[in-house]
Amino acid sequence: MRCFECGGEVIQTIGSVKMTKKDGSLIIFKGIALNQCRQCGEQYVPGKWAEKIGELMQKEDTLVPREIISVPVIAISGV
Ligand SMILES: [Zn+2]
Repeated sequence: MRCFECGGEVIQTIGSVKMTKKDGSLIIFKGIALNQCRQCGEQYVPGKWAEKIGELMQKEDTLVPREIISVPVIAISGV
């Protein structure tokens, strides 16, 4: 499989998928078997996982996080 974005090699890996919750905060699902481009990092999440994540996002309020990480936020101005 080749990356649709850059044509790079796509490999199977275990990674994490970032989603944005309704309130704008991030939520990360990890341990997902997905395909990722070695070149640009574009992720291709298999349908069954995309579906599962979609289901979980429906009931995001009930999800219990395994861990909480802090995420750096960089503001870029003057574009
Ligand atoms: Zn790519």
